[in-house]
Amino acid sequence: MAEWTFPKGDLMAGKRGLVMGVANQNSIAWGISQQLAAQGAEMAFTYQGEALERRVRPLIESIGMDTMISADVTNDEEMDAAFATLKEKWGKIDFLVHAIAFAGKDELQGSMVANTTREGFRRAMDISVFSFIDACRRASEMMPDGGSIINMTYLGSERVIPSYNVMGVAKAGLEASTRYAARDLGTQGIRVNAISAGPMRTLALMGIKGSKSLMSTGREWSLLKEDTTMEGVAGAALYLLSPIGQSITGEVLHVDAGFHVVGVPEPSEEG
Ligand code: NAD
Repeated sequence: MAEWTFPKGDLMAGKRGLVMGVANQNSIAWGISQQLAAQGAEMAFTYQGEALERRVRPLIESIGMDTMISADVTNDEEMDAAFATLKEKWGKIDFLVHAIAFAGKDELQGSMVANTTREGFRRAMDISVFSFIDACRRASEMMPDGGSIINMTYLGSERVIPSYNVMGVAKAGLEASTRYAARDLGTQGIRVNAISAGPMRTLALMGIKGSKSLMSTGREWSLLKEDTTMEGVAGAALYLLSPIGQSITGEVLHVDAGFHVVGVPEPSEEG
């Protein structure tokens, strides 16, 4: 398992929340969960289908948590049941982490124009965008004292990234949804933000053709000349979810070693 170290403290003491999207020990949601636990948060987890249960349970038990609820985000009955279970358990929550996306392998390669089918588009938008809007609605109903919500996005929403294709279109929708949700929920004291992470070695990244080159270019062109770290992403999540992130909403925070501001890479030795 990757060795990450997260600062301990009590920034999230007394706070309870739902984390959606832990699939295995490399998941971004898992890194974020470990950081939140190290700062005193209590969490429940939804996971996609029974097959993942065996992988996810030992992880969450290792940070002293035990609430796992099966919820495929495309299934309204499962989502109803998941939030009903959560309501019964805690009554209210303080935060939500949405780290879920999907597009078919055929869509994540070659030409967007040629490879995006109606069904593939519908599925990518449903799982990667509508599920966030739906989760915002459900979670906000359990946040009478205000709260904080985050999702995970990627630069493919703003720039053209080879093979990212329909997922870039979905991430643009996710970021727009972040701003509209921030508007709708702002008067309830609920902040809504997105983290735009650089490429990280997870299952989702491996589904994209040319993922190795995304990683190496991400490192080589970045201002810090390094990979995006789980510690950096989890730290940004902690910042946005905890009281130190107060006054921040509707934001897309880039955590990518500075890659997103680069226009042209440094010239080679030959100039
Ligand atoms: P991951 O594969 O570990 O996580 C993706 C999660 O989505 C999994 O837990 C999977 O079970 C869940 N999911 C997919 N379809 C679902 C469905 N129908 N119902 C419920 N859950 C479903 O990969 P990850 O990289 O940790 O991805 C988490 C988020 O981070 C995604 O939104 C992804 O786009 C985003 N992101 C990833 C990177 C990267 O380089 N890995 C960079 C920026 C943003």
